[in-house]
Amino acid sequence: MKEYKKVNYRKIHCYKTVSKKDWHDWHWHIRNVIRDIPSLKKVVPIDKAEENRLEKCLCKLRMGITPYYASLIDPQYKRCVIRMQAIPSINELYNAPDDYEDPLQEDVDSPVPGLTHRYPDRVLLLASHICSMYCRHCTRRRLVGDRDKHLPEKQINTCINYIRQHKEVRDVLISGGDPLTLEDNYLEDIIKKIRDIEHVEIIRIGTRMPVVLPFRITASLTRMLKKYQPIYINTHFNHPKEITFESKEACERLADSGIPVANQTVLLRDVNDCPPIIKKLMHELLMIRVRPYYIYQCDLSKGISHFRTSITKGLEIIENLQGHTSGMAVPTFVVDAPGGGGKIPLMPNHMISQSDRRFALRNYEGVITTYTQPENVFSNCGHCHICDDRNYKPSGGIAKLLSGEKLNLEPKGLERRKRLRRKKR
Ligand SMILES: *Cc1c(COP(=O)(O)O)cnc(C)c1O
Ligand code: SF4
Repeated sequence: MKEYKKVNYRKIHCYKTVSKKDWHDWHWHIRNVIRDIPSLKKVVPIDKAEENRLEKCLCKLRMGITPYYASLIDPQYKRCVIRMQAIPSINELYNAPDDYEDPLQEDVDSPVPGLTHRYPDRVLLLASHICSMYCRHCTRRRLVGDRDKHLPEKQINTCINYIRQHKEVRDVLISGGDPLTLEDNYLEDIIKKIRDIEHVEIIRIGTRMPVVLPFRITASLTRMLKKYQPIYINTHFNHPKEITFESKEACERLADSGIPVANQTVLLRDVNDCPPIIKKLMHELLMIRVRPYYIYQCDLSKGISHFRTSITKGLEIIENLQGHTSGMAVPTFVVDAPGGGGKIPLMPNHMISQSDRRFALRNYEGVITTYTQPENVFSNCGHCHICDDRNYKPSGGIAKLLSGEKLNLEPKGLERRKRLRRKKR
């Protein structure tokens, strides 16, 4: 098993006198987040040209780097993957023609401010606009960082009331910003209220703390979370360099408390857009008991076009994982549909062709094989006592086509329909 070394923060001159106690205290890190150029220069060498560019960036954009994450930066190397995620680049001032303010239309799908209800049975609650660190590739740039505040309690209560009134919501995803920037007792108030709602089955927390401020995962936090099981945590590692002794401890502490941790990676150009890096990351995640969940295609948010890779690269990465390594190390590659369509999974094609009874399929080695379907392929699905008891209804969308409930799905304003209507008149 790989041994991880503790970060040697004392190698950084300005942290030389920081006590061990302070370094392991997440509040100390929050108080000492690097927000301006003079503080940054004490931690990483910045030349004059870069300083000038940074000045321009900071007129428009915010910077925020936790001392812990900054200590992972390789000072000698301009293209250090930690540096690229933390220090603003002049490219962020450029908006590509296809960039949007809110590409996922999270604001549009929001029945009450702070809550997005996109999928039938689950909601996204943006509990805080604050992050301990402002990732340069953040998709929620419009929400995060421009207002340095948590959601007012009244607004959170309105969101929770919405969940209470919507019996179909069985999964609540608390995200932000980073909800773990909230103090334990405040977070507990929110979680408790959600847990008290009878129809809520699971609670998920989206946080980058295990990566950017692992000391936030304290014993008292996990003790609190444990009371409200089932709770799941989704975090956001992008590169094997982010897996350290400290982040490993944080993830293991969660896992030891019975809180499963999953990971969502964003594909970022020159950071992790290559098959061996992602494979290494997936393997190392499993070693710290984090289950790879999603790999995201970079969204079309403003100012992050320099991070975008091609979708093709994502497919190549999956091709290099699937079958070649543990199934558990293979996340789902998704494109979050612009316009609010939600996540769309993409896979390299494994189906070569089909006939009445046979499928021609290919595996990861390139072997082409057949699968013969049974002759009597009609299942009794939909007619057994289990469904009858529960008044089971097929899901909407394409599932309705498959169940025969709908003949077709048509876009609104279909030209052909308009013509027919004109003819009738
Ligand atoms: C990603 C997301 C979810 C959760 O989706 P899962 O696929 O269940 O993880 C819920 N709501 C919104 C708006 C999302 O973007
Ligand atoms: S932690 Fe998440 S929400 Fe916060 S800046 Fe990073 S990517 Fe954005």
